Amino acid sequence: MANVQERFEQFIALCSEEYLTTHANKGLYKRAVKEIEKGTTVHYEFSDEYVSCTLDDGTLCQLQDRIDAFSCSCPSDNICKHVLIAILYYTQTEELVTEERKGDFTWLLALSTEDISKHFSEAQLDEVLFRLHYSEEIEIRESGFLAIKLKEQHIEVTFEEEASLGSSTCSCKAKESCIHRLEALLRYRLAYHVTDMPVMKADVNVSMDVVEDCKRILTEIISFGLAKLPQGICNRLEVLAIAAHNGNLPNLERGIRGLNGELDLFFKRHVRFSKETFLRRLTETYVSMIALEKELPVEQMKQVIGRFKSKYYTIPRLELYALGANPWETRSGYRGITYYFYAPEEKQIYTYTDARPVYYEDARFRFTEQYRKTAAWSGGMTMHDVSKSHIMLRNCKVNHEQRLSASEETLVSILERQNIEDVQVGPYLVTDWRQMTTGVSRNLFESKRDEVRLLQAKKIKDIRFEQATQNLLLTVEDKHGNTLDLTIAYTEEWADRIRYLEKSRELWDLRDFYITIQRYGTAYYPISFLKGAMLTNIKLDV
Ligand SMILES: [Zn+2]
Ligand SMILES: [Zn+2]
Repeated sequence: MANVQERFEQFIALCSEEYLTTHANKGLYKRAVKEIEKGTTVHYEFSDEYVSCTLDDGTLCQLQDRIDAFSCSCPSDNICKHVLIAILYYTQTEELVTEERKGDFTWLLALSTEDISKHFSEAQLDEVLFRLHYSEEIEIRESGFLAIKLKEQHIEVTFEEEASLGSSTCSCKAKESCIHRLEALLRYRLAYHVTDMPVMKADVNVSMDVVEDCKRILTEIISFGLAKLPQGICNRLEVLAIAAHNGNLPNLERGIRGLNGELDLFFKRHVRFSKETFLRRLTETYVSMIALEKELPVEQMKQVIGRFKSKYYTIPRLELYALGANPWETRSGYRGITYYFYAPEEKQIYTYTDARPVYYEDARFRFTEQYRKTAAWSGGMTMHDVSKSHIMLRNCKVNHEQRLSASEETLVSILERQNIEDVQVGPYLVTDWRQMTTGVSRNLFESKRDEVRLLQAKKIKDIRFEQATQNLLLTVEDKHGNTLDLTIAYTEEWADRIRYLEKSRELWDLRDFYITIQRYGTAYYPISFLKGAMLTNIKLDV
């Protein structure tokens, strides 16, 4: 072991202005610099374990070789001005006897994923593995220490040469195993092409006994046939659904409950019972159980298992290009507006939904009112403005389905909006209508998402109201002359808007523009028109 002075000087070499301001703060740092300028001096004495630093006002600090190992005779528990003075004065007045030496930190790359998993909780692993899908710039500085800065989060984690996660420090001041240590470590490993994502486990402990039981009961249902099926089967399915829930198998639980619901309809001879739906559910559930018994890669396994409820993760920043806003209402009594965005960096569509049930007596959700309201994020923008802007969200909450959550901690700021013609929307862009009919293949286990596309249109060829279906149909033409019908369904609420669109000169005059559409079944519903930096929400912008 190097002696105290040597180790202290290795530590001092690490103490740049940036390092000290990250671990203390700017104000304190400036005050320390000022006091030294005014003539404060420090006297150093090295013992076997620490360095005693006596300031000329009599304050005594004891330092060692790390930023979180200090004591001071003043009442402060945190890093104080005196500690900073003791560090800074040394760098300014002493010739460092030890040369600055680069340490060997290969142990960070050699750690096995099991070693890492042991030090952190499942929740931390889950959160950080999610965040790794998003880029964050790290800055690595090596001396006798390895400092990794997460630039977006203004956090710095320092590792020592000694192979121990326990001796690392973090500027968040948590003593051990904070989430930043894990993120810094994994991002550092990623920078050296050590990937932890596919192998690291997060919650794949499932009960295979339940899977066995389910398989048995489904086999029974198939061999009995519907006609001879005993009614008691429903109770057994109910018990299994609970077991699947407790066995950490959300998709299986949903599958079993779905089957149970169908059988219930069957035994009640309900008109809504459909043999096709029943068989489809049966097959899907059975296939997913077969998949569970296979050795699948973790990511795929997780998809088969499913999730109980959508968990939201915090990511430091997300750039979003708004694609439009769509009001909707369900037959079960929900009303809402869904806002669509394209994230150029992630090349994905994100959504934010503002919705509520309106089946209560005095519950209401007025589209125009909600649309003009201030967004559920900090920053003061209205959703109307958000829906046609180019924005940056900081500290935002996102789930695996690219849904954004309302949160006061999320700060929205506005960027200069690019022209839609210059935004690379990649797989979402359709320039030839013939691509629309080929259909998009969907993974059997993937949850159903809004299928949103951006159409590059030449012009609107026809606008007509179809009495039979009560739909307003817009026939749009692509640059090859192919046509596609877009549907705006008539409801009394939108009657004025539809009448207006039917007669609109502006629609006929549109040339070379873009349309955000949503596909639902075989119909295409337009959401917004885009051209240049402009965007019009078809239903909401009256
Ligand atoms: Zn002090
Ligand atoms: Zn931390």
